Amino acid sequence: MQLTGYIFKGQCYDTGAQAKRKCGLCAKDIRYCFILKNGDLTLVTGPCCFSRFGEPVRKQLEAAKTWLLNIVQQETYEKRTGAVRWEVKERRGLWRIYRRQAIEAIRKYRQETKKEWLPESLFELKIEAAKKPTFKTPSWWYKKQAEKLKARIDLISAPSTSGDSTCLGDYKGEYHGIQV
Ligand SMILES: [Zn+2]
Repeated sequence: MQLTGYIFKGQCYDTGAQAKRKCGLCAKDIRYCFILKNGDLTLVTGPCCFSRFGEPVRKQLEAAKTWLLNIVQQETYEKRTGAVRWEVKERRGLWRIYRRQAIEAIRKYRQETKKEWLPESLFELKIEAAKKPTFKTPSWWYKKQAEKLKARIDLISAPSTSGDSTCLGDYKGEYHGIQV
């Protein structure tokens, strides 16, 4: 038996990935909800029960579903690309901060020691700081690189507990054999 007397005016919505509503006809969980009127009655149904309506209502419902799915797809896509852009921006910002700190540490060492040669810890830091991204660089690279730089900076600037040679400006350890 087809249902009669229902009017569809294009009202429909997406409840989100977790379906929160039940179809007013078959009680199934529905994500995409379509609102129909029958006099004073309001019915919320889903694609599960489109076949219970005759023409032109069924066609109108199908068209609304196509439209709704397009919108949802577009929104999901925009949200995803927006989130990726935001993540890259944030990670790139952090990477720049550590890179600057690294360059500063190397400059400071050279100013204080008047030496061109760098100790191993600073030499390695310089290599990491020299690595540059391209326009295609993925967001994980900035994260990984920022962590690497931070770890090396921490190592250099950590207050020396045993009075050994890792302390910046008081380096007495081995010098790297490569001039940079
Ligand atoms: Zn249903």
